[in-house]
Amino acid sequence: MQENAQEVKEESTVTFDDLGLNRDVLNAVKAAGFIKPSPIQEQAIPVVLAGRDMVGQAHTGTGKTAAFGLPALSNMKRNNGVEILVITPTRELATQVSDELFKYGRNLGVRTVTVYGGSSYKRQLDLIGRGASVVVATPGRMLDILKKGMLNDFAPSMVVLDEADEMLSMGFKEDLETIIHATSKKKQILLFSATMTPKVVAVTKKYMRIGIDCF
Ligand code: AMP
Repeated sequence: MQENAQEVKEESTVTFDDLGLNRDVLNAVKAAGFIKPSPIQEQAIPVVLAGRDMVGQAHTGTGKTAAFGLPALSNMKRNNGVEILVITPTRELATQVSDELFKYGRNLGVRTVTVYGGSSYKRQLDLIGRGASVVVATPGRMLDILKKGMLNDFAPSMVVLDEADEMLSMGFKEDLETIIHATSKKKQILLFSATMTPKVVAVTKKYMRIGIDCF
C-alpha cells in the first residue's frame, strides 16, 4: 500500500500564467479553454521562449502543437516577413497544425498559411506575400517553392520539424536538409518526434545547437 502511494507522481501545480507567455497568447489559451499546461508544454515552453533549440519526444494528442506554438507566437517580432516555418509530413497534419496556430495567434493578428502539394502555387504564394508570418508546409512543396526562388527574403527565425520520425521514414531526409540549409543560419530549430530513431538522432546531432533538451 505504502509503496503504491509512493509510486504515484505528484501532479504539477504549474499554470499557464507561470510560463512567461505574452498576454495575447495567454488570452488565446484561456479562450481555448485550456486549464493547465500538459507535461510537454510545461517543459518546452520556457525552453522555446528562451530561444534555445529543443528536441521533444511527444505523440499527437500530448499538446505538442501548443508546446511549440504558444512560445513561438509569444516571441514573434512582427517584422513583416515569415518568422515561423513548421514542416509536417502530411497535408492533413499541416492543416491541423495551421488551424491550431491560427487559434492561438488570432489576438496577435498573426496570418498563417498552409503550403502543400496538389493545390495552386499562386494562391499559397499570394497569401505568403500578403504578410503571413507563419507558414505550415509539407516538405516537398516547401522545397519546390524555395528551389524555384518563388519567395523573396524568406528567413524564418524558427523552423519546427514536426513528426520528424514520420518525415524521415517517408524519405524526406534530403528535402529537410535542403530546407534547413536554405533558411537563415541563426534560426532556432525545434524537433518533435514520437520515436527517437537513429535517423532522428542523426538530424538532431547534425543541425541543432549543443544544449538541446530531450524529454
Ligand atoms: P496535439 O498533441 O498538439 O495534437 O494536441 C491535441 C489536442 O489537445 C488539440 O485539440 C489541442 O487543442 C488540445 N490541447 C493542447 N493543449 C491543451 C491543454 N493544455 N489543455 C487542454 N487541451 C489541450
